[in-house]
Amino acid sequence: MKETKKIITHSAGGLPIEMYVLGNINLPKFFLIGGVHGDEPEGSVLVWDFIKNAQSVLQKLNSCCLAIPDYNPDGLKNNQRVNANGVDLNRNFPASDWSPEFKAPRYNPGKQPESEPETKALAKLLRETNPFLVIHCHTYVPQMNYTGERSKKWALKLMKNFNHPITDDIGYPTPGSLGQFCYYNLKTACVCIELPEQVEQQKAWDMVGPALLELAINGDN
Ligand SMILES: [Zn+2]
Repeated sequence: MKETKKIITHSAGGLPIEMYVLGNINLPKFFLIGGVHGDEPEGSVLVWDFIKNAQSVLQKLNSCCLAIPDYNPDGLKNNQRVNANGVDLNRNFPASDWSPEFKAPRYNPGKQPESEPETKALAKLLRETNPFLVIHCHTYVPQMNYTGERSKKWALKLMKNFNHPITDDIGYPTPGSLGQFCYYNLKTACVCIELPEQVEQQKAWDMVGPALLELAINGDN
């Protein structure tokens, strides 16, 4: 079995956004997303490493991983948080708490929810595929951040070699974020892995890679 790859949409700047399907599509699904914020490439590298390392265990997976390593290719290309329209994708989801207000340009939520092609494509996929879990990878003050009580058990599974705190509050409100949309609108568990800033590739993998593989092998139980 080999992974399949599809282009889910093109970014605001016209770049393709790829999704890798790892494992049997009929199994319970989870998303693994990197590069939401283009100035946090470590999360993107982690998802690429997952795709590589998962190849040897594809037959053993009791889940299907939908992996999007470079979710914000505009931002990754320019080492900036936002996409080519200057929108923070993690504030542009159609969550009930989406708000047009923002304190700094880096948090620009867009003109309306799903105004950006990136957000529109992922929101549609999430509605269609009904995943049991969404994991997205960032860098910030290192922590395993989960949204809502039902997400906690997944965050705990990822804590095995992650020697940083587990939190349910990032310290400030995140209206229109992927986590808010998943948990409160779709009733889907969501975990945000905040790696240390500028963490080395191998260190990042050692922190969460094996636990991610284990999660994919064990599936939704
Ligand atoms: Zn981020």
